[in-house]
Amino acid sequence: MGGKVLIVDDSEMIRNFHSYILKSIGLEIITALDGADALEKIYGTDGELLICLTDINMPNMDGYTLIERLREDSNYEDLPIIIISTEEELQDKQRGFEC
Ligand SMILES: [Mg+2]
Repeated sequence: MGGKVLIVDDSEMIRNFHSYILKSIGLEIITALDGADALEKIYGTDGELLICLTDINMPNMDGYTLIERLREDSNYEDLPIIIISTEEELQDKQRGFEC
């Protein structure tokens, strides 16, 4: 299996954890500290992203905003995105699905 995965989380431990697992199955990892960092990094990347894993609560730009920005961009409007968050309120889940 090959391809690039974008991991966005302000926790280094979480980024490392996901990176470790996904690298072990042969994926190439791009990590970012927050939404703004993620956008900067993917615009400097050539080739397609397979999937994006993102946290919600992050400084500078949160996960909801990141997802909205990606969906506005024709290159990323269909990118599979998985939200990984400890937010468990129904409204948080709804906002995630809306994005
Ligand atoms: Mg966080």
